[in-house]
Amino acid sequence: MKPLSRRQFILAAATGLCSVSTGHARWSIFGEDASLKSDIQGTIFKNDAPASPWKWSKIAYYYKRMENGAVMCTLCPNRCRLSPGDRSVCRSRVNLKGKLFTLAYGNACSANIDPIEKKPLYHFMPSTTAFSIAAAGCNFRCLNCQNWEISQVRPEDVHHLDLFPEQVVQEAVKNECSTIAYTYSEPTTFYEYMIDTARIAHANGLKNVWISNGYINTEPLLALCRVLDGANVNIKTISDDIYRRLNGGRLKPVLDTFVTLHRQGVYFEMTHLVVPGYGDSDETVQRMCGWILEHLGPDHPLHFLRFFPSYRLNRLAPTPVNTLFRFRELAITEGIRYVYLGNIPGHEGNHTFCHECKKLLVERQGYRIAVFRIVDGRCRYCQTPIPGIWPLVQPDG
Ligand SMILES: [Zn+2]
Repeated sequence: MKPLSRRQFILAAATGLCSVSTGHARWSIFGEDASLKSDIQGTIFKNDAPASPWKWSKIAYYYKRMENGAVMCTLCPNRCRLSPGDRSVCRSRVNLKGKLFTLAYGNACSANIDPIEKKPLYHFMPSTTAFSIAAAGCNFRCLNCQNWEISQVRPEDVHHLDLFPEQVVQEAVKNECSTIAYTYSEPTTFYEYMIDTARIAHANGLKNVWISNGYINTEPLLALCRVLDGANVNIKTISDDIYRRLNGGRLKPVLDTFVTLHRQGVYFEMTHLVVPGYGDSDETVQRMCGWILEHLGPDHPLHFLRFFPSYRLNRLAPTPVNTLFRFRELAITEGIRYVYLGNIPGHEGNHTFCHECKKLLVERQGYRIAVFRIVDGRCRYCQTPIPGIWPLVQPDG
């Protein structure tokens, strides 16, 4: 990553979000304690757009023109209002002469072949691989971001892989991946790149999965749903206050996303990272499960992930494993049928048990499937349908 220029530094400092990596040194201007108490909603970057479009620019699919050459991006709930020369909160959209451009089209900063289980997606094409891409940018400001080197920077500041949609699909086919995953950073910020790639992927018999914070407006989400086969969306908390303080977003639009995915029949799983001190109480988990059961039903798998110190919360301790064990039991007791624990190797929370007869159906060792007892989407023992997108052929194991 390039060092920030003086102007960029001032802009970043103005947002209260300046945390810069220069080699191995890392520092934060305002200190972590101050930031933890404030609302960390991102702000737009005034006069930070490049002078003209570049190779990876494309006119944005969702925006409104305003007076005096201003535009409003209508892709996500941030609804950035940008004057000519301004850059969006997510850093990947700019107003150039009265038009909104994405700077991330075909501009992948990361591309890997991952097990689908790594997303995590446990009930979706097990034992297959996903060609996984990201471009720089995020519409959130999570204090605990794992991927801040690519999520909290501009598309100009990362390594460019130069993978346009057709090339992404070619690479996925060449590497025998069943699925393309839009992941790592926040794929909503590279929406045009994602949806164009997804359409070509479908035409070539590949599936698409969206790994997201769910912070997107309903209209672009409905268009995306038509090319999605699966998703894993974070439910970071059930508290609007914590969304503001930990993530720099709001709760309601994320809940709306879950409801839209559910109504559109998109298969999805949910991930809840348990950050110590940010709503990690039994009462919060019960409320979260209550909302899920009321609005989405019991069948969408829920993953509790263990927090490890990262980014601006690098002084916090990891989530105690007993907390995760307790939350899993609580969620199962509340009525969620498939509840998993991430980042805890060897625990039964890695495995799938039939919600009806309780027998072990899928045993996972890391990302590898050791035992698989689902036949034609049903429990091998009691024939209960198991929610998910299951393969026609038996996975290894
Ligand atoms: Zn069964």
